[in-house]
Amino acid sequence: MQAENPRHLSKYEDRLAKLQKVLARKEEGSNNWKKIKTEIAKLHEKIKNVLKDFLHKHKADWYNRVFHKVDRFFASTQKCSECGTKNPRLKDLSIREWTCGECGAKHERDENAAINVLKQGLKELALAN
Ligand SMILES: [Zn+2]
Repeated sequence: MQAENPRHLSKYEDRLAKLQKVLARKEEGSNNWKKIKTEIAKLHEKIKNVLKDFLHKHKADWYNRVFHKVDRFFASTQKCSECGTKNPRLKDLSIREWTCGECGAKHERDENAAINVLKQGLKELALAN
């Protein structure tokens, strides 16, 4: 599969240009200036992530790999990657590490989510083929 060109990126770049213009008109250090400054930082982060995502998909082409996206509402962080038990308490983003109440497995939040996304992706690909 050919990775899609990040054309939608220009939407964020336009917004960034607009915000930078708005920022230039605010008094430096004022609350409104800080608000816009934060928004600009968030936008930079978003653009960085879009580019990173695009690059990963490209790389997949070079190495003849399959890029497959899992449903964004897939509860990857809430599921124990060992036994599959769902733990809704983990909707709280401040919980970085947890122990499964069902099987006792210890998890690091992002690592557990990555394992779940990989498992889900492989399951979906197996069904598709
Ligand atoms: Zn478990």
